[in-house]
This record gives sequence, C-alpha cells and structure tokens, in this order.
Amino acid sequence: MSKHANTGSDWVRPLVQRLRPYEPGEQSKEKGLVKLNTNENPYPPSDRVLKAMKAAVDDRLRLYPDPCCHSLKEALAGFHGVQSEQIIVGNGSDELLALATRAFVEPQSSRQGHVQKNRSVIQYFVPSYSLYPVLSEIHGAIRNEVPLTKDFAIPSARKLKSESRWNNGAALTYVTTPNAPTGRGYTSRELRSLCRGQQGVVILDEAYADFAEENAMSLASDFKNVLVSRTFSKSYALCFQRIGYFVGHPSLVRALDCVRDSYNVNGLGQVAALETLKSLSYYRKNITRIIKTRDTFALRLRSLGFDVLPSQANFLFVKPPGSVDAKTWFEGLRERKVLVRWFADSPHSDRLRITIGTRDNMRQCMNALQTLCSQFLCS
Ligand SMILES: *Cc1c(COP(=O)(O)O)cnc(C)c1O
Repeated sequence: MSKHANTGSDWVRPLVQRLRPYEPGEQSKEKGLVKLNTNENPYPPSDRVLKAMKAAVDDRLRLYPDPCCHSLKEALAGFHGVQSEQIIVGNGSDELLALATRAFVEPQSSRQGHVQKNRSVIQYFVPSYSLYPVLSEIHGAIRNEVPLTKDFAIPSARKLKSESRWNNGAALTYVTTPNAPTGRGYTSRELRSLCRGQQGVVILDEAYADFAEENAMSLASDFKNVLVSRTFSKSYALCFQRIGYFVGHPSLVRALDCVRDSYNVNGLGQVAALETLKSLSYYRKNITRIIKTRDTFALRLRSLGFDVLPSQANFLFVKPPGSVDAKTWFEGLRERKVLVRWFADSPHSDRLRITIGTRDNMRQCMNALQTLCSQFLCS
C-alpha cells in the first residue's frame, strides 16, 4: 500500500471522473408488474428459436463462437439483398454505435494541430436516443446537439443550412428513425436529402423501423458514408441475447471490424438470430399486432384528454391532461403495478413514454390511467 491516502479517484482519468453513466430503464423483478418501460417485445421468441438455443447448450459452450458471425451475416445479406461485406454484427446495436465513435471520430485530446476540428464532432438531434451524448462524452468528442422543430420534425434542409447549428462536416451524425422517445417517423426522402449534404459518416439508427410505414435501408447501399443500424432487440424479441448489426459500405464495415473485440457476439445469440430469420412470418404477425394495439391505445388515450404524439414505433410519448405533473402520474401507475418510463432530467419531463405490450397489458394500463384520471382531474 502506498503511504499516500488515495480515495481511488487519482487513478481515474479526469475525463472519466466527469462521466455520468447511461441510465437504462428499470429491470424490475417484481411479480405481476406490467412492464412498459424499456420498449421490449411483449411476445416471446418463436418456438423454433427457443428450440435451437436449447439444442445449442451442450459441449459447444467450451469453444469460442464464430468470431465473424459468418452464417448470420450471410443470412442477413440475403434478407436485405446486400453483400455480406456490407454487414457487421455487434453485441447489441449499442456496441456498434460505440464502435463508430472509435472508428470515425478523433478524440479532442488526440487531435493534432493540422487536423480539422470537425473530425472530433459528433452530431445528433435533440430529443433523440439518450445514449448518443454518453458515447460522445466517453470518447472525448465535441457534441453538437441540434434541436428538432416544435413538433419534433427534422428542420427542412433550407432551415438546417441557414441555421448555423447544423454541421455538414461533422465526423459522425446519429439520426434515430423513427425517433425515440418521440416515436415520430421520418420519410426516406428527407433522410436522403439530409445524408446527401453530409461529408462525415451518418448512422441511421433504425431500432424501431419494423413498426414504421417505411425505412431507409436503401440509403446504406446508395451512399458510401451511410450506415443503417438495426437490432433484434425490439421487433424480434431478443434483448436478452444482445444482437444488433449495421449495413453500409464495405470500407466503413472494415473500419468497424478493426476496432471491435474478436469475439464480440456471443454464440447463443448468433444461433438465436439466425433462427429468427427463419421464422419471419411469426414475427411479422406480432409486429402487426403491436401496431394495431398501439393505434387503438393512442385513440383511447386521446379520448381521455392525453396529448399523444403520432408514433411509428412500439411506444407512445404522451402528455397527461390536467395540472398534475408527469412524475405523479408515473408514481401513480407504479403503485398500480404499471411501469412506464419517465425522463426526470429532460426538457420533456412533462411526458411519459409508454411501451406497447399485449392487448391485456394495455387494458391494465388503461384501467390504471382511468382511475388516476378520476383521482387527479376531479379533485
Ligand atoms: C433500443 C435501442 C437501441 C439498442 O438496441 P440494442 O441492439 O439492444 O443495443 C439502439 N437505438 C435505439 C434508438 C434504441 O431505442
């Protein structure tokens, strides 16, 4: 032991001392809780997936998994009609979003004099996925947060250009589409024009694309600097196995391959994802069900007086009626065994994000909301 008192922080880089970790939604073990807080799929993986995973639990666990996810990449390439060199698989898409900072963004501290400041800029709209600022901070990048319009749309190309806040030269731009936590969808036309103007890498984070009317996957092949991010977590009910992937130009994919861990994707996850792609009709049925439930639930909420943003995802971002604040609604729902998401330190702390569960889940949620309505609005 050193004779100097060391509280531990002396060993930690100053940048890391200042970090605040990403705050995931609560994973409660409480029984009987209706869990509508982390946008998970309420329906289980297909029987085929569960069977294949169970069958893979044997002597194989001794061995490292395929470091390159060959079979999965082949299957994904077939699924999207692209080459397998255009695909990289990650430990959830979150891992790939982080790897992109390593591959494409120069940390401020390591930038040499002659290298442009833009090489350190990570850009995204606000509000969008709350992981982006965390990844930017970890990497020591310069954050450029660009506000969406009042109704959470992407400002027009002309407006972005005239408003000097948007940076065409940013090293990395993240766009969540459909957006979270708002649920708003963007057209591939507006995304195309956005990508056309960018000199750096653009990542279209399509975690919720399967619940939307359209997606922008074609841009991954049309542009050399665009990566489209997808995940098995939301529409394919596989959060637990952590499988996400990017589609894009082989040169970007190669760069990401250079900065990942050799065995970044676990073996059972590879088995599960591959099998998922063989039961697509089962998943499509569930996705359709979730979309229907979402639209019915949105109508009911509106009739209770909630302000409900139009959603292209598996959640709704809503403002409760009356003068009782969203935190109190959140706690009231929690007492009635319904867990939703409320973002405390956010400019949108007047809203709740409600994941779409089964019809039964949503009935329970609606019952709790009706009780709270009579309690909060009549007193
Ligand atoms: C859930 C989510 C992800 C993360 O997905 P994983 O594949 O589970 O890591 C990425 N982006 C957005 C916008 C999400 O909501």
